[in-house]
Formats: sequence, structure tokens, C-alpha cells
Amino acid sequence: MTGTQPSFIERAYIAGEWIAADSGAVFAVTNPATGETLGSVPDMGVAETRRAIEAAQRALPGWRDRPAKERAQIMRRWFELVMGAQERLAQIITAEQGKPLAEARGEIAYGAAYIDWFAEEGRRVYGDIVPGATDRRLLVMKQAVGVTAAITPWNFPSAMLARKVGAALGAGCTMVVKPAELTPFSALALVDLAECAGVPAGVVNVVTAKDPVPVGQELTRNPIVRKISFTGSTEVGRILLRQAAENIQKCSMELGGNAPLIVFDDADLDRAIHGAIATKYRNCGQTCISANRFLVQRNVADAFARKLAEAASTLKVGPGAEEGVAVGPLIEPAAIEKVERHISDAVAHGARVLTGGARHALGGLFFQPTVLANVPADALIFQEETFGPVAPVIPFDTEEEAIRLANATPYGLAAYFYSGDLARIFRVAERLEFGMVGVNESLISTEAAPFGGVKQSGLGREGSRYGLDDYLEIKYVCLGGM
Ligand code: ADP
Repeated sequence: MTGTQPSFIERAYIAGEWIAADSGAVFAVTNPATGETLGSVPDMGVAETRRAIEAAQRALPGWRDRPAKERAQIMRRWFELVMGAQERLAQIITAEQGKPLAEARGEIAYGAAYIDWFAEEGRRVYGDIVPGATDRRLLVMKQAVGVTAAITPWNFPSAMLARKVGAALGAGCTMVVKPAELTPFSALALVDLAECAGVPAGVVNVVTAKDPVPVGQELTRNPIVRKISFTGSTEVGRILLRQAAENIQKCSMELGGNAPLIVFDDADLDRAIHGAIATKYRNCGQTCISANRFLVQRNVADAFARKLAEAASTLKVGPGAEEGVAVGPLIEPAAIEKVERHISDAVAHGARVLTGGARHALGGLFFQPTVLANVPADALIFQEETFGPVAPVIPFDTEEEAIRLANATPYGLAAYFYSGDLARIFRVAERLEFGMVGVNESLISTEAAPFGGVKQSGLGREGSRYGLDDYLEIKYVCLGGM
């Protein structure tokens, strides 16, 4: 079974119904590789969001109070349907988001793994009995938070949703989702399969909107919604946190990063190059955990930069649906402008372009994989997340300096370093102020591990057994008169 709907579903999903906006308004979704219109989805606002929230509220008791085993069976069925439709779902991602098809297939499997994981974890929501005085017993129970909301980004339009909905449903919560306006089709296709798997009406709802602001306001200010989970920029996370403050709504925030990748002179340089290519050019650099700053010990910096440039220059750029393409288009014109701004600023600060540095001959939103050498720490690219295919190499002298430079950012999502010295590995891993650290490894994300950041990169964790806690409340019950 591959869903009841076409691949590009042009309806939103509220209370188990596939519906249009009240006004009938729609907005178009385009393919960033070609500029062609893929279809359009309903342009919804506050009224529809409110109805979705009320549907999630009505569905809550039935879902929350169902035995965890039954919820797990439905979720497992959903996981299997998603994997059965992997190719079709991957094609939707590539069409609306641009990443190479092989990566899109990986995203589907990665997202599905969260559904599977939380189906299982939802069965292990254990409480405690705390020894107290002789006349009483202290019980701790964990209960579903209730109605939740998710606002998801365009860079992983399927997996970021699966990771949130998986945890919510596993914990017994219901959810209203607002996908990114650039990539709503992946979310709709995923939820279509949830319906086929037997997820009851109202348990998951998808509201599509061109303007996220009114929908975001309703999702944070409506007192029925007890929690919001957001993945996106720190700037928007801050807005949502302010709004959520009114109702003291629980918040999980997965925000921007500015990941360092440190290469010490005792590292296996080829392994570091391999890792650097994987983290930097995957999804055209549009990943919140992409390495943004390559801090390389001075005596190996030239060799590293040269080898990195050689490897980057062999990556095939083109439409994600084309065979052998490793780097697709950027998502929109503003993204390509930011990449250009960061490169010209770095060059003005004395950096050298080793490869790339300009738009690709294919035109449109395609950009050449770029490596910059000798980038100083006062360049813009050191301070801000580029979200594009640019690797700036910044030399350093001592371990102390590397740690200081790595931590010199308000962000704290992911960091990577390469070293062959075990004592150094522990020292540096402990001192990096980041939520996730890859040591001699740059592909670190998995459903079994806690994903999340510190500092301005966010609040809460997704995935792993810790990820379920974000959707659970702790209740203490004191049993007296024993
Ligand atoms: P990015 O920088 O990755 O584009 P954004 O933070 O702008 O990320 O967007 C991520 C998600 O947040 C998208 O679904 C977008 O529609 C939504 N969004 C953007 N601005 C707001 C807002 N003011 N209120 C609620 N959601 C918003």
C-alpha cells in the first residue's frame, strides 16, 4: 500500500479530513533545481489552526489512554509503510527541496527510524516508587504532555517531522504540525501514510500556510497547546519562546549552529578530509549540524586545505534527481546571496579561494563547492552559519587556541574534531561547549542518540530515550495513611 493520495497532495489534513483553506486560497511550491511549479497547497490561517488544535484535543483521550502496545503496533505499521514508499517519498523531497536522490532516500530511512524507535520507547515509560517514611509511599508517574505543536524547516522536510511526531505519538500526545512553506509536500505524504497505518483522525494534523506568523501565534498562544517543538533559525526560535511565555508552554527548540570541525596535527588527515566533505557538502551545506568552520593546526593547514579543495572540486553539481549528483541547488535566492556575501567578506579579510567561489555554470540556484584558505576569525563566515557549500579553513597553533576559537560563538549544537591522541580526545570533548561532539566522525545523527544543542542552539533533546521525556510530564503522587 502506498497511500491513498497522489504524491503531491494539494490539501491540508485536519481532523482526519483532507481539506482546502476556508478562503479557498492556495500557494505554489516550486522545484529549486528547475524553478517549475510542483503544485499548490492551502494557504491557511488562524481559524483552520484553531480547528486543528481542537481536533487534536478531541483525539487526545483516545490516543493517550490506549495501551502503549497498541500505539506501538500502529506506529510500527506506519514505519513499514514509509519504508515501503521510500523511493516515492524520496522523490518528493528531491523535487521540493533539491537534495540528491540518494540523500533523500537516506532522509526517509533516517526519519522512519524515529517512528520505529519511539514506537518501542513508548512502551517503556516507567515510573518510580521512592522509599519514603513508613506511613507513606512516594510514586512518580510519567504522563503524556497532551496536545502538542510542531513547526518544521525545509532542509529535512520529512525527517524533522518524523522525529517530532514519532516522539509525540510514542508518548501518547497528539499534534498539530505546520511544515515549512517551501516544502509542505513531504509532510503531507508522510501523514497520508500515518492515516493508512491507522493513526486515528485528529491525532496528527497538518496546517499549511504561506505566512507562518499567524499560525505560529495560534500554536503558541492557544492554551490547549501544552508544548511546541520547533526546528529552524535561532531568530524564529526566540520569537516563538517569547510567544510561548504567555502560557508557560513547554518548548523544545532545535535552532541554528555554527559547528567547528577541528583537525589536530596528530589526526588521520585522510579520514578528516573524508569527514569534512561529508558534513560540509551534504544537502549543499544546508544542515544545522554542517561544519561551518574548519579549524586546522597550522603545520597541517595547507595540506588539509589543498586536499579538501581537490576532493570538493570533484563533486558533481546538478539537479538532485540526476544520477551521480552530489551537490544540489540551494533552496532560494536569499540563500545563494548569503553564500556570496560570506565569500566576498572572507576574501576582503585576506582569505584565498582554493576552489569554487562563484555560482555554478548551470545557473539558477546552483553554486560551486568552495574551499577558502587562511580565513581569519574576524570574518563574517566565522561568526554566522553560512548554510551553503563553503568550507573556510582557519589555522590555529595550540589546543588551547582551538578550543577557545571553537567555543567563540553563541551557538552550541554540534562540533567535530579529529585527533589520534586519546588523552586529548577526552580533554577536548569535555571542554567543547556543544550538545553533540563527533570525534573522528562527522556523521553522528541517529535515532538512538540524543540530538540537541546548548547555548543559543536550543532546548531539549530529540531521539534516544531522552527524547521521549520532552513529551512527558512527571507527576508525583504521595500515598498516605499506609
Ligand atoms: P530557516 O532559516 O531554516 O528558513 P526559519 O526559522 O525561517 O528557518 O523557518 C523554519 C520554520 O519556521 C518554517 O516552518 C517557517 O515557516 C517557520 N517560521 C518562520 N517564521 C515564523 C514565525 N514568526 N512564527 C512561526 N513560525 C515561523
